[in-house]
Amino acid sequence: MVLPGIHRYQFFTNVKDRALTKNLNRLTMLGIAATLGVDIIKPLFKGLPQTIYCYECRACYATQDNCPVGISVQAELVVAARVSDYRRFIKNGGLKCVRCGNCSSFCVQNIQLQKVFGTMQLITIDAIKKGKVPKSVLVGAMEEGLVGRDFIDDVARQTEGQV
Ligand code: SF4
Ligand code: SF4
Repeated sequence: MVLPGIHRYQFFTNVKDRALTKNLNRLTMLGIAATLGVDIIKPLFKGLPQTIYCYECRACYATQDNCPVGISVQAELVVAARVSDYRRFIKNGGLKCVRCGNCSSFCVQNIQLQKVFGTMQLITIDAIKKGKVPKSVLVGAMEEGLVGRDFIDDVARQTEGQV
């Protein structure tokens, strides 16, 4: 019941009188479905199911000096792995991770980060071999020392003549 003099606003709920809102709702649902596709189905398909549980709290940044190769942005690597963002993974040092697992003890979700990074390294190297990563990114990574011993030959081969 609405009392006299009191206006009831139903901007979000009274959808049946608002054709435009219905379409907006459909658009929103499509957006949610697309986000789910990228955030859940893609990592499952790529063999990185653990990345789904990361809620980007960044507690793992407490790893600090405990990372032997000086990576301090583990959450960036996890998110890059979740959405298969090779460029972001390389630029944040993903290819120099030695998979020691020190950072995993700081993860509040108990994600085995060394396993995630190892899998993403293999996926990234495969993408590099298939030419899916711009050479400028690879050259920059080589120059900045962001490529670990295991992958130097593979990356250097792709950037031959430019490094
Ligand atoms: S697993 Fe990789 S990112 Fe984590 S501490 Fe070890 S080297 Fe650093
Ligand atoms: S601590 Fe774990 S859950 Fe939090 S951002 Fe880091 S990887 Fe993700």
